[in-house]
Amino acid sequence: MQANDPTNDPMGAIADAVRAIEPNLIAIRRDIHAHPELGFHEVRTAGVVAEELGRLGIPHRTGIGRTGVVGLIEGGRPGPCLAIRADMDALPIAERTFLPFASRTEGLMHACGHDIHTATLLGVAAVLRDLAPRLAGSVKLIFQPAEEGLGGMRAMLDDGLMDDPPITRALGFHNHPELPVGRLAYVRGAALAAADRFEITVHGRSGHAAYPHTTIDPIVAAAGLLMQLQTVVSREVPPLMPVVVTVGAFNGGQTHNIIPDSVDLKGTVRTLHPRARDLAEAAIGRLCAGLEPMTRARAEFTYRRGTPPLLNTDSVLDPLVAAVRHQLGDVIAEQEPSMGGEDFAELAALVPAGHIRVGSGSPGRADRLHNSGYQPDEACIGIGVQALVRAAVELME
Ligand SMILES: [Zn+2]
Ligand SMILES: [Zn+2]
Repeated sequence: MQANDPTNDPMGAIADAVRAIEPNLIAIRRDIHAHPELGFHEVRTAGVVAEELGRLGIPHRTGIGRTGVVGLIEGGRPGPCLAIRADMDALPIAERTFLPFASRTEGLMHACGHDIHTATLLGVAAVLRDLAPRLAGSVKLIFQPAEEGLGGMRAMLDDGLMDDPPITRALGFHNHPELPVGRLAYVRGAALAAADRFEITVHGRSGHAAYPHTTIDPIVAAAGLLMQLQTVVSREVPPLMPVVVTVGAFNGGQTHNIIPDSVDLKGTVRTLHPRARDLAEAAIGRLCAGLEPMTRARAEFTYRRGTPPLLNTDSVLDPLVAAVRHQLGDVIAEQEPSMGGEDFAELAALVPAGHIRVGSGSPGRADRLHNSGYQPDEACIGIGVQALVRAAVELME
């Protein structure tokens, strides 16, 4: 019996394998970090991924969902296909970390840690390739473009991501700076929110500010509507169903002595429950329809549904959490859902799925995602690899 025989000591074998490749994964992460690319423009990043998969001898396809890459590891025995997904896109944020590997592209930054995710999944690929003979089924490695509100998962699904072989279960993960590195977390049920958008144009009739009675003032009408929208949360949706209604843009008028023709509002609705989503959309529509009888200003309303809520399925989440404990010890705890959105939800709506938070907080720092100074602790890469590899092994035994 050998200590590194994965049959006898999977924990030690996986930990050793990850330790051996960790410097390479950090180098890949820093290279991707220095060269951030926005959604659907991840050409260089996809190239790095394809080159690394090629070096590992893992069959892969590029150009899935425009700039996505999909690798496939066949196990030693037939069985179902487990998908593991990472995202690759950066954000339009100017980096302020002053690190030696900081962004070399002005105005773009990996401020959501998708460089960490890409390096993590490449590590999973490297370790699982060597463990493949003991796996039943296949692992589909999904390197997704355009997660940041651009519909990258939808684009990959439209390009046949689910087929050949058909995905039956899926794992996802996100770095989480609010958790110290070394800790992980999960949420039971709805983990992240449905993220919808709405736009309202309030049409009035312009005129001289000194003669408001000769106009239809869209500013006063829109201000009233803005306050009424707050009642969607307080009076329309059951209190035990979380909902957020935020108006993030409110634009109208040019100067002090003119009442304008129109005012534009833009906002987002976040919900965890399908019924809350339906109720919020209907209520906003009703309040908009009621504006004209109240004020004479007419509200033109459009509502676009975005990603659904991210639903964790117990049949995948339970073995995922157990595998993390087997590999890393008692480092994973249940947390509350977040009203943020994540388009892994599109895949999780099709097959049973589990999504975990991988702590990336550096000691002594108070980092947040989408922040120009974000510095995830790179030790989270190796920890993420260990967690996901162990989960794949246990799900495919
Ligand atoms: Zn993000
Ligand atoms: Zn993200």
